[in-house]
Amino acid sequence: MVTSRYRILRSPARGGGKSQVTSLKSQVTSLKSEISEESFTDFLSALKSLDYTGYAEQYPPFGSWEDVSARRVNVRSVWLKSLKCSDETGLFVNIPFCKIRCRFCFLPVSAVGASGPARIESFRRFFSALERECSFFSPVFKKTKIPSVYIGGGTPSLMEPDEIKTFFNLLNRYFKIAPDAQIVLEIHPDDAGHDKISAFKSCGVNRICIGAQSLDKKVLSANYRRQRLDSVIKAYEACKECGINGINIDLICGLPGQNRKSFLTDLKNIAALRPDQLHLNTFINTPYTLHALAGGKGPDERLVESIRQEGFALLKNAGYIRIDSDSMGLTPDSRNIQTTDLWKKKSMLGLGPGAISHAFSSARHMNYVRWEDYERIVRRRISPVARAVFIGEREEMIYFALTKLTDELSLNLTEFKNIYGVSFKEAFKSQIKVLMKQGAYFVNDDFVLPSNMWCLVRQAFYQKKYLLKLREFSGKLFLEETKD
Ligand code: SF4
Repeated sequence: MVTSRYRILRSPARGGGKSQVTSLKSQVTSLKSEISEESFTDFLSALKSLDYTGYAEQYPPFGSWEDVSARRVNVRSVWLKSLKCSDETGLFVNIPFCKIRCRFCFLPVSAVGASGPARIESFRRFFSALERECSFFSPVFKKTKIPSVYIGGGTPSLMEPDEIKTFFNLLNRYFKIAPDAQIVLEIHPDDAGHDKISAFKSCGVNRICIGAQSLDKKVLSANYRRQRLDSVIKAYEACKECGINGINIDLICGLPGQNRKSFLTDLKNIAALRPDQLHLNTFINTPYTLHALAGGKGPDERLVESIRQEGFALLKNAGYIRIDSDSMGLTPDSRNIQTTDLWKKKSMLGLGPGAISHAFSSARHMNYVRWEDYERIVRRRISPVARAVFIGEREEMIYFALTKLTDELSLNLTEFKNIYGVSFKEAFKSQIKVLMKQGAYFVNDDFVLPSNMWCLVRQAFYQKKYLLKLREFSGKLFLEETKD
């Protein structure tokens, strides 16, 4: 499960699901040249429900990216441009397979079972497709040292030890991964025995995210998951025994069948293990979850948020400190640098179906989502990019401002100047004026918001050209693609 790399666009109490598809369509239809202040909240909520990527806080917003599947985009030149101005590039690899599909999952994964010919054949084909994609990009990155690798999915821990070796040999053949790179792996507690963790460790993995999500038997069975506290403990101990101390555990708040007591009990049990980091994610019932497709409603977002905040308070009392809007860690270094540092002058090349890429000051792009489409396209030895938006430094500055002002509620002026070479006050005069009217202020070297102005901040910073492009965004394509 991938939630630890996610930063979800939050909103006031709104349901998810199909009604919001209709809502988006009507909002978008009524969009002429501007979106009124009144409709902006609805508009963002609707976009959130349609965005399966989880990276809802992309800037430019995901829905404004163009469908580029019908035209050849010169992705290599996009990256060559980016490499001239970014400081470093990490790799993100999306493994598109899971044993079974969990009811709450909004990702386009294929269920291949835990063992047997279907799983083996799926991974064989995946490695072959991934190799083609790596060989497409490797000429661009031949001089680039890769400081971080994130292996997510899906369920990367479905790989067996011999496949783990094949996978890493493949990556190392095409990219120069730095000897001290942070290499993060997502695991499912069900299939994380000592032999597998040891195989991952010997290939360089030094940080692990355990996707526990819940420990409550009833919640798990309602969501088609089987693991319990024992399997999470076993996975945690296997990581420790293998010398991996950077361990993150993911929980989700607001799952179907869950209540406050169940979530907080899980959290106490997990916190007692003292993992290096804990993510408290929110269940987002996008139209792609099995829950939504079966007519299930999303949770009450205000309630979920208040329970989550109780959870963060509990962790604070247990000695954890805030890492980002969804996680707390034992030290400031208890984090996945690829997620937390992406707003700096950094890029991320996404490989595999549905993978998202950030090419600093040049583009954001996403691969074909369906595994079969991705495989078909890379067989032709062309890039599997399906949606993209081409950007410059202005968009990166906005991405920085949005990230800081929504996650931390403040932005450091010197940090901004050091990255972009211009003053924040000069670059965003009108946006600052709007926010100051609502109580934002400068103190010492920081621009500070008095409270979370999640909607107003976006309304102030989102550029009109992207809001207009959102008209073209329809969730239909992805809805159809992920139904099975
Ligand atoms: S294990 Fe479940 S939640 Fe995680 S990616 Fe697979 S289907 Fe989604």
